Amino acid sequence: YQTQAPHKISHSLRYITKLEQVTSDNRLYLDRTTQISLELLSTISAQRYGITKDDTSYGSLLWVLDKTQTAMGARLLRNWLLSGLTDIAQIKYRQDGVKVFVEDITRRRELQKELKECVDIERVSAKIGSGRANARDMVALKKTLQRIPLIKSRLVLSDKVCDIIKEMFTRLDPLEPLQKLIETSIADDPPLDLTEGGIIRDGYNSELDKLRSLCKEGMDFIAKFQAEEIRRTGINSLKVGYNQIFGYYIEVTNVHQSKIPSNYIRKQTLKNAERYITPELKDYETQVLHGRERSQKLEYEIFCHVRKEAETHIVALQNIGSALATVDCILSLAQVASENNYCPPIVDNSFIIKITEGRHPVLEKVLDEKFIPNDIYLDNEEQRMIILTGPNMAGKSTYIRQVALMVLMAQMGSFVSAKEATIGVVDRIFTRVGASDELTRGASTFMVEMNETANILNNATSRSLIILDEVGRGTSTFDGVSIAWAVSEYINDRLGSRTLFATHYHELTELALVLPAVKNYHIAVKEWGDKIIFTRKIVAGGTDKSYGIQVARLAGLPNETIKRARQIIIQLEKSAFDNHGKPLLDGGVHKLKSTDMNQLALFTTLPHPIIEALNQIDTNNLTPIQALEKLSEIKRLLEVYENKEFL
Ligand code: ADP
Ligand code: MG
Repeated sequence: YQTQAPHKISHSLRYITKLEQVTSDNRLYLDRTTQISLELLSTISAQRYGITKDDTSYGSLLWVLDKTQTAMGARLLRNWLLSGLTDIAQIKYRQDGVKVFVEDITRRRELQKELKECVDIERVSAKIGSGRANARDMVALKKTLQRIPLIKSRLVLSDKVCDIIKEMFTRLDPLEPLQKLIETSIADDPPLDLTEGGIIRDGYNSELDKLRSLCKEGMDFIAKFQAEEIRRTGINSLKVGYNQIFGYYIEVTNVHQSKIPSNYIRKQTLKNAERYITPELKDYETQVLHGRERSQKLEYEIFCHVRKEAETHIVALQNIGSALATVDCILSLAQVASENNYCPPIVDNSFIIKITEGRHPVLEKVLDEKFIPNDIYLDNEEQRMIILTGPNMAGKSTYIRQVALMVLMAQMGSFVSAKEATIGVVDRIFTRVGASDELTRGASTFMVEMNETANILNNATSRSLIILDEVGRGTSTFDGVSIAWAVSEYINDRLGSRTLFATHYHELTELALVLPAVKNYHIAVKEWGDKIIFTRKIVAGGTDKSYGIQVARLAGLPNETIKRARQIIIQLEKSAFDNHGKPLLDGGVHKLKSTDMNQLALFTTLPHPIIEALNQIDTNNLTPIQALEKLSEIKRLLEVYENKEFL
């Protein structure tokens, strides 16, 4: 800015009338990664494969929520989406407005019909402020202002009004003086070009009217002149024409050369004809051309004057524009809520996120089959972090994203895709979502993943919501598990953020044994014949660890291979816990949660029964017969164990 002359800046920035500081204090902060991975404005595939511009929002949250009728509404909705609110009162202010129009469908439709006809006032006023508005902009502006009284009357038609509606009602000023000014000065259907006339209405400016009538007189004269000259000379083919170089001329074909009157002055010779002028014709030509030129100039001046006058209303215009945009957004959210059966969430300052029968707002619309709803409960004490396991394609990513999307929707003032919801306000949403096909992006993926994880650990607070999907996948299993474990511990011990962690590392379910606020959930699957049925239902507890082996069995791997795999998994399990059933991965850092001892027995293998049996043998006091009996007992145990059916 410093290199520009100050007066230049003041002109081009005149339409900027207010700057508002957007701080992380009053806005729900979403970093770019989160905006992308939650597919707020466009889907990841659209971002990657560059689907044509019109379609980029297809499949995104914006695509679901945007039913706005105006360009200003669409811009504002995008803005609401990317910067949700954190202030309960502000959220309620918007939500109350949405509520009114969820219920009052007729009024919503009527208002939307009116809005559809409104011009982008924000853009027009920016054009006025920077001296770029043309006459059509002004006419469109006038037409929009004329609609405002009707819009206002629709807004408060029923007795169900709330603060936001009342405020928009007062902000919607029809600006009658400006309306009148444009109405009286600008023609109904003006051309785009400002320098060729036809812009200013007759009767607005007397000097212009005079010029116009002189000009018209000249034109009339010229129109009559041809008939007059034909009569006078008796040359029926005589023509009056016009070109850029000679102006008006009289054209007579060569056969009639003898009949040329003496006052004709020859100007140009063609192959079959001669062109002439007369002093009288030239006089009227001057009157027409001059008149036209002067009136065009005058029209332009008058227009600029009107535009300058309009500029004095810029603040009011911006106010009207933003009020129309706000109404548009409220109507859009109401329409979406009513069409998709959303509920109004209770948004408060607690740390609770409690959603009953929540759905993914986008997937439920694009999926061929029925979307299965799920509940969630998170708080900042008992259940702050959920470790979600389950096989590939079970619906883990969908579930953790839908929670984030609903929090975002709630904080932008929208209803949410659930039966019931309580949302304790979130200050930031962080996501680390490793789309599986991201692996194709090459070796840098893991670095990117770690960068994003670092960003989360460095910036999340106890009010944040963290969505982790498959952290640590981009490296070896040992690395991956170790990092994922340490990251979870850090979030739990230091940050205290509410966290949803979807992972295929079963090892992480052991975190629940040592960290009080960590709970395990999994997505249940059922076996049906030789098929796996996805139930899409979230249930408490971790998944069965040998799940992969079951799938292998269903897929028809030889029995022997399955048996061997089971032996190996037992070996792996054995080395996962110490004698007290404490996860060795923890390395003795945390105490075992006593209340979870039962849970532990449910889904981990405590000392193997055969080892248990061996341990109990007192070899010093054993007769040979007893030893043989023990041996066959152990063999029996071994058989039982080997044949044990899973699930
Ligand atoms: P994961 O992350 O466990 O591999 P995804 O969340 O990617 O699984 O889900 C895989 C697919 O399952 C989705 O693309 C969707 O088609 C389907 N799906 C997920 N959740 C549900 C649900 N609740 N109801 C119906 N279908 C679902
Ligand atoms: Mg996934």
